[in-house]
Parts: sequence; C-alpha cells; structure tokens
Amino acid sequence: MAKHYKHIETRLIHAGEPEPLINGAVSMPIFQSSTFEYAGQSSYDDIRYIRLNNTPNHIALHQKLAALENAEAAVVTASGMAAITTAILTFLTPGDHLLTQDCLYGGTHEFITKDLTALGISHDFVDGDAPDSWTGKLRPETKMIYMETITNPLMQVADLRAVAEFAKANGLISMIDNTFASPINFRPSEHGFDLSLHSCSKYLNGHSDIVAGAVIGRADLMEKIIHKLNHLGGSLDPHACFLLHRGIKTLAVRMRYQNESALRISEYLHKHPAVEKVNYPGLEGQPGYTRARELFEGFGGMLSFELKGDVETADRFIRSMNLPIIAPSLGGVETLITRPVTTSHAGMSPEDRQTLGISDTLIRLSVGIEATEDLIEDIEQALVKEK
Ligand SMILES: *Cc1c(COP(=O)(O)O)cnc(C)c1O
Repeated sequence: MAKHYKHIETRLIHAGEPEPLINGAVSMPIFQSSTFEYAGQSSYDDIRYIRLNNTPNHIALHQKLAALENAEAAVVTASGMAAITTAILTFLTPGDHLLTQDCLYGGTHEFITKDLTALGISHDFVDGDAPDSWTGKLRPETKMIYMETITNPLMQVADLRAVAEFAKANGLISMIDNTFASPINFRPSEHGFDLSLHSCSKYLNGHSDIVAGAVIGRADLMEKIIHKLNHLGGSLDPHACFLLHRGIKTLAVRMRYQNESALRISEYLHKHPAVEKVNYPGLEGQPGYTRARELFEGFGGMLSFELKGDVETADRFIRSMNLPIIAPSLGGVETLITRPVTTSHAGMSPEDRQTLGISDTLIRLSVGIEATEDLIEDIEQALVKEK
C-alpha cells in the first residue's frame, strides 16, 4: 500500500519514490536498459521492456503522477499528443461520435477534425459556456466528451462542473486536457472527470528541455489505455523519464510563483492605456473569473492580450521586449512570447480563428520564473516605444 501524503508539495517529492531507495540514491537512477531478465510473466503487457512502459523509471513516475491528482492510476507517454491520441483511440472506434469543446489545442483540433474523421469517428463542437445546448448534440453513438481546463490562447474556462455531471448522466467518458492548469491549480479526478491529459513538455517538466505526456485517471480505463499504448508504441524513454521526474519535484514552487507573477502582469496590462484587452481568468470581471475562483487554486502562468494598433504594432512590441524569448510552447522557467496566429494557431483557417475570437494582433505570454518586476519593467519600456 503506497503511503499517503496530505499536501501536494510533499507528494511531488515523496510519492512514488522507490522504497527502500535504490542503493541509497536520493535521486531516482536512470535504468537505461531496453529489456529485463524474464521473471515468469504470463501476459505480454507484463514483460519488462521500455515500450511496455514498465521500467523502474516509468513505475515511479506513474505512481507520482496518480498521487498528484488524487487519481487511481497514470501512464507517461512520448509526448502530449501521444497521450491525447492514444487515450482517444482506446475508446472510440469507427461509427462512434465525440463531443468536444470548440477551442482546442491546434494538434488536438487537427487530430479530431482530420484523422478521426478519416477513421469514421465523427464529432460535434460544443460551447463550454452553454450546457443547455449539449443535450441536443447527443447521439446514440456518442461515447465521449473532451475539454481543456483553460483554453488556448484566450484562457477561457468552460463550465467544468456541468461537463463532469453531463458525462455521468449520459454514460460518456469525460476527458480533460489539464496542461495549462497543472495538478497544482486543478485536479480533474476530484471534480468527477474520468481522465486527465497532460503535455508534460510544459509545466510538469517545466524546463523546456523534453517532450513528454501523461494520462491520469480511473484504473479500469487506464489499464485499457496502457494496453493500447503498448501497441501504438508512444512510450517515454527512461532518460526523458528521469528528466521529467526531476522537473516535477519543483512544480509547486514554480507554479505558485508563475500564478502570482502572471496575475500581477495581467493587472498591470489591464490598467495600461496602450492595451486594448487582456485575457486571464484571474482578472476580476473576466468571463471565466467566478468559475475559475471556485474551481482552481491558482489561475496559471499563461495570459494573452491585444494592444491598441495593428499587427505591425504587435510585432514591434514583441521585438522590443528584451527578456521573453520569441517562441511557441509554454510552461518553462523562461518567459516566452508569441503571436498565436503565426505559431500555435497557424494551422487553423482564418474563418475558424475569427469565429473563436482569435485576432491577428493577439499576443500570448508564458510567464517564466524571472522577477515579476523585471518583466513588468521590460513590458513598460516596450510599450513606451509604441507611443
Ligand atoms: C503542448 C500541448 C499539447 C501537445 O503536447 P506535446 O507534448 O507538444 O505533444 C497538448 N495540449 C496542450 C494544451 C498543449 O499546450
């Protein structure tokens, strides 16, 4: 029986660690061995092999991740997209139907609209703010509802309580991409979601140096997902497991700092006369604010905003900043800045972007762990140049 630690800070450090420690090593050693001596296993999934996700590095991470979200089980994958595609393909087969939020991570949007459609798996988009409209989209073959905790790049928060209830009432599997919140700010299992998905490339690892993913949730569903992953092959290498394991230990100190810093930067931008609009669920008066306050323990390190002016204004501002690195991706210790239309949402048609409210001038900031004052000063000097 695994030990239970009350607080997430303690679970980050101690949950899932080998007992006793391996040769006394304080840090989990890397087991860089593809195969392991046969020990009488009778099922294929129990043979010890890296692709079967059961080396000591995998097992320690699985236990830690499940403990973080107070869930029954977890598995790590080769990328966030491997987690998402494997989990969806475990439960949907040709003829099935999926309900999904309309504003999704670009890769997920493409997978659902292109790859699933090609496989004969259909979908309908639902408005996360309008639970009354969901029942009308149900079909006898609807099997799943798919959401994101905080949407990218507008940082919206759907009626997540209603989603979990709707899924239960209609026998659907509920999946939520919890990457933007991280287990510090939101733990889907505690709110009735069946499965939580992560791109661990972001906050969980936190150092922008690996690509990895995770699925966390109900044990009965996780067993099926792991068997599917064993076939599809999107397994995480032990060396990347080691880096993720190391990164996870500081998640709470990073995330809490990033929550605080992003909130202060949002407030600063919100008051600035050169700023047209700020999207951050922690700003009072924003559409998702009340919901986010009820559901989350922090509002996250991601925000987006529009300056008064055109695309040129936005690009000049981005180039005038000194600290943030112009790059897609998020969740690391370095602050990153990007115009989503040129990066994360470049694959989406201009019409779809317009429907969702993603303007060409929108700027997205992933707040790192630099001093908040330094970041605000940097924004200030870049805005002064705009005048
Ligand atoms: C980055 C990201 C993904 C994809 O993760 P990869 O690790 O790049 O495959 C999925 N969902 C969200 C919300 C993301 O930010």
